[in-house]
Amino acid sequence: MGRYVYGFAEGNRDLAGLLGGKGANLAEMTRLGLPVPPGFTVTTEACRVFLAEGAEPEGLAAEVSRYLAALEKDSGRLLGQPDDPLLLSVRSGARFSMPGMMETVLDVGLNDASVLGLAKVSGNERFAWDSYRRLIQMYGSTVMGVDPALFEEEMALLRQAREAPDDVHLDACDLARLVESYKRIVRERTGHEFPQSPALQLQQAILAVFGSWNSERARLYRRRERIPDDLGTAVNVQRMVFGNLGPDSGSGVAFTRDPATGRPGLYGDYLANAQGEDVVSGVRDAVPLAELARLDPRSYRRLRDHAKALERHYRDLCDIEFTIERGTLWMLQTRVGKRTAEAAFAIAAELIEEGLIGADEGLVRVSGDGLARLMFPRFDTAALGAPLAHGVPASPGAAAGAAVFDSAAALRRAAAGEPVVLVREETTPDDLPGMVAAQAVLTGRGGKTSHAAVVARGMGKVCVCGVQDITVDTGARRFTTRDGTVVAEGELISVDGSRGTVHAGAVPLVPSATMRYLECGEQAGSVVSAVARALEHADTVRRLEVRANADTPEDAARARRFGAQGIGLCRTEHMFLGERRKLVEEMILARTDTARERALAALLPLQRADFTEILAVMDGLPVTVRLLDPPLHEFLPDRTELAVRMAADEASGRRPEARDVELLDAVNRTHEENPMLGLRGVRLGLVVPGLVAMQVRALAEAVVARIRAGGAPRAEIMVPLVGAVEELRLARAEVERVLAEVGEETGVPVRCPVGTMIELPRAALTAGRIAEEAEFFSFGTNDLTQTTWGFSRDDVEAAFFPAYLDLDVFDASPFETLDREGVGRLVRIAVEEGRAARPDLVIGVCGEHGGDPESVRFFHTAGLDYVSCSPFRVPVARLEAGRAALGDTGPGPDSR
Ligand code: PEP
Ligand code: MG
Repeated sequence: MGRYVYGFAEGNRDLAGLLGGKGANLAEMTRLGLPVPPGFTVTTEACRVFLAEGAEPEGLAAEVSRYLAALEKDSGRLLGQPDDPLLLSVRSGARFSMPGMMETVLDVGLNDASVLGLAKVSGNERFAWDSYRRLIQMYGSTVMGVDPALFEEEMALLRQAREAPDDVHLDACDLARLVESYKRIVRERTGHEFPQSPALQLQQAILAVFGSWNSERARLYRRRERIPDDLGTAVNVQRMVFGNLGPDSGSGVAFTRDPATGRPGLYGDYLANAQGEDVVSGVRDAVPLAELARLDPRSYRRLRDHAKALERHYRDLCDIEFTIERGTLWMLQTRVGKRTAEAAFAIAAELIEEGLIGADEGLVRVSGDGLARLMFPRFDTAALGAPLAHGVPASPGAAAGAAVFDSAAALRRAAAGEPVVLVREETTPDDLPGMVAAQAVLTGRGGKTSHAAVVARGMGKVCVCGVQDITVDTGARRFTTRDGTVVAEGELISVDGSRGTVHAGAVPLVPSATMRYLECGEQAGSVVSAVARALEHADTVRRLEVRANADTPEDAARARRFGAQGIGLCRTEHMFLGERRKLVEEMILARTDTARERALAALLPLQRADFTEILAVMDGLPVTVRLLDPPLHEFLPDRTELAVRMAADEASGRRPEARDVELLDAVNRTHEENPMLGLRGVRLGLVVPGLVAMQVRALAEAVVARIRAGGAPRAEIMVPLVGAVEELRLARAEVERVLAEVGEETGVPVRCPVGTMIELPRAALTAGRIAEEAEFFSFGTNDLTQTTWGFSRDDVEAAFFPAYLDLDVFDASPFETLDREGVGRLVRIAVEEGRAARPDLVIGVCGEHGGDPESVRFFHTAGLDYVSCSPFRVPVARLEAGRAALGDTGPGPDSR
């Protein structure tokens, strides 16, 4: 038989698992000599036994009696003693804070006799009857299962009869009558009398609090907050102190610093003549703590001193609940408090400054999620109304502009200086110019790794995708919401990429100082310098390198400013768009080798120029260039559009253009039902003659040009979507051949490491073989997630992920946070077997997960060498890589 009860003087804050957060901190405050009403904690272990066995754990009653006797001795009164009763509060308190999810019973010990005693000793009859009716109400609903609404209705009836605006206006007689009505309700509803035995009240209240661990709302809360179901709650039994004894009493909450800004100084609310519940529920308006300094300067000074002591002791922002009973201050709760991202950075920096914590601990106290929040401009929340529609929050931030429905309109209006929001059913590479011109992108279809989402995040653009409650009518240039609101081209809308909402009109924005710092080093204000310090420290402790996914010189330059140590993924597909698409069409339509070679030869100098610029920007740092990945038909016109154009020609008696006929033929030839599983990646390089050679030549010649210009280019060549070592062997032979050729032609030897993406389960499972041909691996976790789960990355997030999240199939989208159990296992296998075959194998990741804080921590423990992510995530990845290196870090106090 275990020990189930600890007196407050016996515990400490390290026992939170056993005593719950509240119990452990009450014990800690008691140890510190702060004025905590005496009491004891029944452990979470007792709760677990109770829930497993459905009965009170053996020996618990005896232990509780012993501790109760000690309490009674200490206070010189017995529980429920008729002339001067000791009263107790019975409160839940789990390991993790679950505000308001479980039950509390106050004023245990009152009965028909002791209520009279309480009235007498307190000299306040109204107070005594009010306490008694609160007990019956809480006990009746929590322990005896009476619907709480019945008590509220009774109270409302009485207030009506008395014409009292609130219960403060009911007098002692009214409340005594209410007690009788409440007792009647209990009797009628349960067939039992409200128990008059104080000992029975205490025993039953403890068990009822245990039982409330499994209430529906508590379960739901735990699911959302990812709190395990098997922890159980502790129960804190404590002598009641009363904030509702008159104007010299009251209750309040306080923070040792401002949790919104981190500014030092006591901060909080106070309500005179009230109990704690009244402050939290907002039944009356509380006043700022400064007011307490005026009302009761002595208590205020004490509170301030205790707050200081707590902050020094916990070495962190604490929140506090307190009660003043007739001029005496009592501390009822403390814990390390939640805070905004701004406050997290500011407080960490100040605590380091004050010598309370070291730089390592300061870094653990902030988070990548918090930093990401600081980087985006925001809407002024005070100005946000109800949203027009909801979708997938794909790229955070806030932006407003005129709705436009195609690239041309976006470009036209943007060129005239008008901010625009590009609204599409879904985007394709063709929409890129429009996306660049727009402030935000909104799509009716697609999830977090859809084209729109990936590209928008890469550009740091706000994006909400998969907004199924709008219908986009591109032809008519408008969208319609579920409730029939029509937004036509030119009308202003606001897009909140952090919440996934769309609003009518232009909601005002608040710019981000952190972004200004990252972009141009401008250090304005304490939050920004705190961010700077945290990032600097992360850079000194992290083992993971951070590279960026960038495929334009502008993105590369930004990535470098943000601290990227190279490019981990330069996708080459954008280099095939715009004007150049014609050349790609020529290549696809070519019927002869000569025609194809001509098209490729025309592409070559363009690619070379792109690579030369990027290598220049990233001089001295690695640039991993990926050979062309998407299926070729993505570069051809849309099948339906072509067919419609040709049908229109025919209908008006014109012969369709010969090129259109040819194009339609090519579109039909290359059409695939599942293009993501089709002719793409290395497969393309192996079956389209000359394609790999052209890309490698362009890169090799760019390297030579940079060397001749005195630069230090460090190009790497990456082969996508490899499933078998044979594919890589063939592709690599071609790469080596062309590199040697360029070396010979120019007299400048070109050495580019050749590696592969690991983005198919087969590649991960045969990584030992693949490593024979690869100098590096880079996990393409977007495709690896898609192919491991069999989820189409473009469809499923909007289609059924919300349902899957509700059903608890997973608690975060696996496209957002790496699925450690499945995809993560493949990653570990590939790392282990790849390194076994080739100990100097360099391993990174370039899927979207490379910029996700939780995933970065996984990649650190999996032993990767670097993560690569969009330029805007680079600071986030740097910070999280630093935190990961410091050991077992979680999301951070600002992230839940
Ligand atoms: C990936 O699959 O993770 C990847 C980086 O490649 P892409 O997103 O371009 O398919
Ligand atoms: Mg991929």
